[in-house]
Amino acid sequence: MPKKCIICGEEAKYSIKGTRDHYCSECAKENFADLSMLVEVEEMAKKVKDLVERRTKAPQEEELNLHEEDKEETESNDESQTQ
Ligand SMILES: [Zn+2]
Repeated sequence: MPKKCIICGEEAKYSIKGTRDHYCSECAKENFADLSMLVEVEEMAKKVKDLVERRTKAPQEEELNLHEEDKEETESNDESQTQ
């Protein structure tokens, strides 16, 4: 669910550190001369995505190796049975 600007209702690009207030880029610039108070919403979403990708990567590689071993075994069994 995209965050909305609390002033005009447009899609929010910034949030304020330590609060749940969200602003679009225009309202943020109008209301805050110092943009260092603001955190980019997209940047926060990226950090969460990176964490999720790091967690899921290692188990996936292990699974692939197991499947390759299974395949080789079943193939050699089939050959001896058909002869
Ligand atoms: Zn706005």
